[in-house]
Amino acid sequence: MAAAPMGEGTPPANAANSSGHRFPAYTSANVDGPYIAITFDDGPNPETTPKLLKILEARGIKATFFVVGTRASENPELLRRMAEAGHEIGNHSWNHPQLPKVSVQEADRQISQTSAAIHAAIGKDPIYLRPPYGAMNNTLRKHIEDKFGLAMVYWSADSLDWKNRDTQSIYDKVMAQTRPGGIILMHDIHATTVAAVPRVVDALIAKGYKFVTVSELIAMNRPVPRKEEVASLTPQPARKKPKPQAASASAKPASAASASSAVAPRPASATTKPRPPAAVSTGTSLF
Ligand SMILES: [Zn+2]
Repeated sequence: MAAAPMGEGTPPANAANSSGHRFPAYTSANVDGPYIAITFDDGPNPETTPKLLKILEARGIKATFFVVGTRASENPELLRRMAEAGHEIGNHSWNHPQLPKVSVQEADRQISQTSAAIHAAIGKDPIYLRPPYGAMNNTLRKHIEDKFGLAMVYWSADSLDWKNRDTQSIYDKVMAQTRPGGIILMHDIHATTVAAVPRVVDALIAKGYKFVTVSELIAMNRPVPRKEEVASLTPQPARKKPKPQAASASAKPASAASASSAVAPRPASATTKPRPPAAVSTGTSLF
């Protein structure tokens, strides 16, 4: 149902969307095979990103890079190399603010200038936005979906590489949280991250995982029927409505990894918002 053409123009819409959102927001995908997407945020960095590209190329891995506009505009050649190698490029804002904390006009600028920088480098617009810190709210999300045609992409496996800067820790965190359909979060601007990647990806390959871009992963997504839909298909005595808390538990990036791999793309109930990474979760006002 969600298997729309990959990466061409717009993300797959959510046919069953009754929340007013144009697209689902993804923390992972429900897929039939051992497919995962590895994503790298905050770059490109002319020192570290080229090394990463070589590591990925040697293994035939396609990744997704959520770039910030300031760095993308300064390194268009690097973006071209990414695109030519088959990697996907997504929007990660212009200079990494918490988007719900800036004005709508500023959020628009953050997004439009970054998409323009990406377009100038590779000749096409991104179709996914990864909000910095995972910070987003429903109003802004809807605005961004409608105005820019961008769908939100979060993550299910957080390497915390920006925080720990330690290859063993990165390895342990990724290996512990990766499930089929998962989206791994890393940052290609850190030398320790690039140093950790060969061991991480080789271990994942040895476990049978196959790397695809975010668009490819989402194209394989099979929406999980909502509980209400399952209930309507299977007549049974009146059921209690699931508590909102319980319904949203599987949708949070921070906890999705410890839940079933079959959690994600949230159906219309994507009114539930992913939590920002722990490092910024003090700001509950974000949501
Ligand atoms: Zn970031």
